[in-house]
Amino acid sequence: MNRNKQDKQLVIFIDSGDTIIDESTEIRNEEGIVIHADTIPGAAETLRTLYESGYTIALVADGELQSFRNVYEENGLGNFFKTWTVSEVVGMQKPSPAMFEDAMRKNRLCDKDKKRIVMVGNNIKKDITGANRFGITSILLDWSPRYDMKPSCPDQKPDYIIHNPEELLPLIEKLNDELKN
Ligand SMILES: [Mg+2]
Repeated sequence: MNRNKQDKQLVIFIDSGDTIIDESTEIRNEEGIVIHADTIPGAAETLRTLYESGYTIALVADGELQSFRNVYEENGLGNFFKTWTVSEVVGMQKPSPAMFEDAMRKNRLCDKDKKRIVMVGNNIKKDITGANRFGITSILLDWSPRYDMKPSCPDQKPDYIIHNPEELLPLIEKLNDELKN
C-alpha cells in the first residue's frame, strides 16, 4: 500500500446504501430525507485506505442529495469521494447508463477508460446489471441480508463477489496490478 499514487489507474465507482451505509440504521425525517445512518463495519476504514492509497472514488448512488450529504457529513466520509453522482440530480436511477455516464463525465473519463473502472454495489438489479450493460467491471458486496443476491439472468451476474468491505482492498490492488501488465 505504500506504492506511488500514480500507480493507481483503477477508478472506483461505488454505491451507498448497504454498500457503505447500513440501511437498517437509517432514520428519515418527515420528508423522507435520511438524517442519520451508520456505516457497515469496515466500510469507513476501507474507503479511507483506498482514498489515501491514491484511488479515485466516485459515489454513484440512488437517492436524495440531502440524504447523502447528511450521512456522509455525519460519518466524516464525504471528502473521500472525488465526485458525487446522485439519482435525484441526474433524474434517472441505476441501472440507467445515465448514472454511469454522469460519473464518467465528472471524472473526465471516456470509452477507452471503461476497462479501468469498477462498480461496487450490493444490488444485482441496479449496480451489477448497470455496470455489466455499461461495460465496466462489476463487484457485488453481498453483506446485506436485505437483498436477493442470486442472479436470475446473465446481466445480473457480477464479475467479482466480496462478502465484507475489507475484501475490497486486496481485490482492488489485484485488479489495479493487472491493468499494468
Ligand atoms: Mg445499495
